Amino acid sequence: MTDRVIPIADARRTKPLPSEGELGSSARAGEDTLGRRLHDLRISVTDRCNFRCIYCMPRDVFGPDYAFLPKSELLSFEEIARLARVFKGHGVEKIRLTGGEPLLRRNLERLIEMLADIPGLDLTLTTNGSVLSKKARALKAAGLNRVTVSLDSLDEAVFRRMNDADFPVSEVLTGIDAAAAAGLAPIKINMVVKRGANEDSVIPMARYFKGSGHIVRFIEYMDVGATNGWRMDDVLPSAEIVRMIGEKMPLETVEPNYTGEVAERWRYRDGSGEIGVISSVTQAFCRTCTRARLSTEGMLYTCLFAMAGYDLRGLLRGGSSDQETSDAIARIWQARTDRYSEIRTAETAKLRKIEMSYIGG
Ligand code: SAM
Ligand code: SF4
Ligand code: SF4
Repeated sequence: MTDRVIPIADARRTKPLPSEGELGSSARAGEDTLGRRLHDLRISVTDRCNFRCIYCMPRDVFGPDYAFLPKSELLSFEEIARLARVFKGHGVEKIRLTGGEPLLRRNLERLIEMLADIPGLDLTLTTNGSVLSKKARALKAAGLNRVTVSLDSLDEAVFRRMNDADFPVSEVLTGIDAAAAAGLAPIKINMVVKRGANEDSVIPMARYFKGSGHIVRFIEYMDVGATNGWRMDDVLPSAEIVRMIGEKMPLETVEPNYTGEVAERWRYRDGSGEIGVISSVTQAFCRTCTRARLSTEGMLYTCLFAMAGYDLRGLLRGGSSDQETSDAIARIWQARTDRYSEIRTAETAKLRKIEMSYIGG
C-alpha cells in the first residue's frame, strides 16, 4: 500500500440537509446558486467491478481486503425507482445507470423495467462491456434506450495494462456488436486518455470506429477520488487529441445537441461520422452542469468531485413521504454551488474526494 491510500469509508461524509433559512432570498425555484437546472441523474447501482482500471480502481487500494458495501447498505430497486420518480418531478429527463460495473448488479433488467415505467425518461447505461454480449438483448427488452461502452485501447497489451484484470479487447468488441444488434444505438465508446499509458491508441481507436455509426469520446484523465495518483502531467489535453486526429482524418466542429452536453462534438469532413472530446480538466464546463449523482447506498452528490453527500436513503428509511423527499432535493439543488473543475489546482487534486467507482462516473 502507498501513502496516498485513504480508507474510502472515511471519505463518505454526510452533509446536513440545507434549511430554508440558509438558502437566502435570492434562491430561485428549480435553479442552483449559479442558475443551473437539474436535468440528468446518474445512479450507481454497485460499487464493485471486475476490472481494476489504473485510473479508477487501482489494485493496490481495491485489493482482496477492500471493504465494498454490504448488500443491506445498497438502495433496493424499489428505493431507486421511488427516488427516480421524485427526481423526474424536479426536471430530470435522463437517467444513466453506472457504477462500479452496473451489469454486475443481479437482476438489473428488473430495475430497468421499473425505471422504464416512468414516462418521459431517457434511460442509458455505462458499462465496461465485459458481459454485454450476454446481456444486450435482455437490457433492450427491459426498456434500456442506449449504452456507452468504455474501451481504452484496441491494442491487447495496452488494454490489459489499463484494465489490470487481463481482460481481452475482443470480448468488449463482441459486446459492442451485440449492443448494436439489439438496437441499443447509437453507441458511445468512452476512452480515457492517460499520457504515457494509451495515447498511441487514440488514432487507431478513431480509425477503427470511423464509419461504424458509433461515437468515440476521448476523455481527459481526471483527478476523481483520492487514490489514482493523478498528476496534471498525465493529462493529454483534448485540443491535442483533436489536433492529432484531425491531421490524419480532417474534422470540423458540430453544434451541441443541447445546452449542458458534456462532450464537445466534432465530425469527419468526409461525412463518415463524429467523435467527442470531454475536457473536464482543460476546459471546465461547470457553468452548464445539470447533473446530480446518486450513490449505491443512496447518498446524493451534486458534483463528481464532491467531498460529502446528502443521505437520501436515511430519509426514505426514516419514513419520509415522497413530498418530504422532494422538498429536501429542492433545497439541496437550490443550495448547490459546485464548480470544482473551474477551481482545480494541484492542491485540490489531493483532497479526499469521493471515489468514481462509488459515486458513479
Ligand atoms: N464500469 C463502467 C465503465 O467503466 O464504463 C461504468 C463506471 S465508470 C466509473 C464510468 C466512466 O468513468 C468510464 O467511462 C470510465 O472510463 C470513466 N472514468 C473512470 N475514472 C476516470 C478518471 N480518473 N478520469 C476520467 N474518466 C474516468
Ligand atoms: Fe471498473 Fe469502470 Fe472503474 Fe474501470 S472505469 S475500474 S470498469 S468502474
Ligand atoms: Fe459539474 Fe462538478 Fe464536473 Fe463542474 S466539476 S462539471 S460542477 S460535476
